[in-house]
Parts: sequence; C-alpha cells; structure tokens
Amino acid sequence: MTEQFGLFDARGLQPADAAAPPLCVRESRRARRLTLRVLPPHTLELVVPHGARAADVAAFVHRHRRWIERARREIASHYSLAQDRLPTRIALRAIDQSWLVRYESEPQAPPRVRVLGDELEVRTRDASNRGADAALRAWLCDQASYHLTPWVLREADLVGRRPSRVQVRLQRTRWGSCSSSGTLSLNAALMFLAPAVVRYLLIHELCHLISLNHSQRFWDAVERFEPNYEALDRQLTEAWADIPVWAHPDARRR
Ligand SMILES: [Zn+2]
Repeated sequence: MTEQFGLFDARGLQPADAAAPPLCVRESRRARRLTLRVLPPHTLELVVPHGARAADVAAFVHRHRRWIERARREIASHYSLAQDRLPTRIALRAIDQSWLVRYESEPQAPPRVRVLGDELEVRTRDASNRGADAALRAWLCDQASYHLTPWVLREADLVGRRPSRVQVRLQRTRWGSCSSSGTLSLNAALMFLAPAVVRYLLIHELCHLISLNHSQRFWDAVERFEPNYEALDRQLTEAWADIPVWAHPDARRR
C-alpha cells in the first residue's frame, strides 16, 4: 500500500474533474514494472515498483493518458448509475455482523442512523433519501473507530510498539498508514474485509513503528507476527473492489 513517505506526489496524477475516479497509486515491493489496471467496481490503480523514479512514473502516466481517460469515463458511467442505489443490507465482515437497512423520512430532523437490533433505521428529511449515504458513512466511521481502535491496541501489545495516536476515517487510496510521529491512520472501509486481512493491515502498520520503510528488517518483523503476509497483502490489494459504492468517500448522489 502507499505510505506517507511515498516517493512522489500523486496529486499531479489526479483528474481535473472531481467526479472522475482518482488514480490510486500503490507502491509494491514485488512489482517489477509500472502497471495500470481497473479494479471493479470503481478503482483505477497504478502499481509502482519500490524505488521507481518520479520522472519515470510521470512519463509512464503521460504515455498512457488516453487509456487512463477512457478507463475513467467507463468507470464513471457505471459509478453514476450506482450512486442512486442505497444499500438494503450492510455486512461488516471484519466483525461478522450484518444489518437490514430501512429508510424513513422525518422532515424536521437531520439525517441520522439508528441501530435497532439487526436493523438499521436511516432517517432522512424527505422521501428522496438525500443525505442517507453521508449518514451511513458517518455511522460506518463510528463503527470502525469503536472496533478497530481496541483491536489495533491489542495487536500493538503483541508487536511490542504502541502508536502515539490512532485515527479512523474513510480514505480513498490507502487502507492504512503510519506517520513518523507514530500516528496510525486506518481506513474505516476495512470493516468490509475479512478479519484475517484486517489483522494483517494492522500488523503491517504497527511494524512501521519498528521500521518506517519497506526494508528487509520491516518485512522480517511482519513475517514474525503474520507468516502468511504475502497472500494477505495480495488480498488486501484486491479488496478495493469489495467496498460498496455508498461507502466511497467521494460518493455523491445526483
Ligand atoms: Zn507499508
């Protein structure tokens, strides 16, 4: 996954039109060459081999700009169709829980989500359900913070390093990151992934408290706490496709 010490500035690679999907840049230790691909339903990814030069990356993107624009248009056309579809069921695999979602309108109150047993009640101002997706994203962030914070602290005891701070929010391009000041940022969308994959991400970020880069020392530490790390890292990369459209931080209803 891309980290805060990324080699180049990804901003220049992003579309001018805010509605078009961003290019997710992922630095890979295993990749031997630059690769572009579409991860359904709405992710456009650029895989950058570890140690690639920023100038080479920029030249590669420039060479493939027509392909990138075409892929963006294609993703955007599917994506806008899906925008209007709010979920009727939400499953959070990380904690093995699911809810049926019911929508109610209540003119005077701001949109909000209530948990009623195995049902989520989403109240919006009118029958168009405007604001329902944002209310669900806020609920998802609360759930993620509630479950992931104690979880990462338990794994921290195992690794023997404690983060100075843990923050949980929806992010477009990263599952997690670790800053040089020891702050771990976790993507709330981890809640959609299998527990083993989430645990690997937590171990990965905690091991950055031992070594901030992807050195051999870093991977040796990861392997000590998660021997199956290579397969789990691949699953984590592919898991971008498992995030429902409503949970995408840029999701906007027309
Ligand atoms: Zn990393």
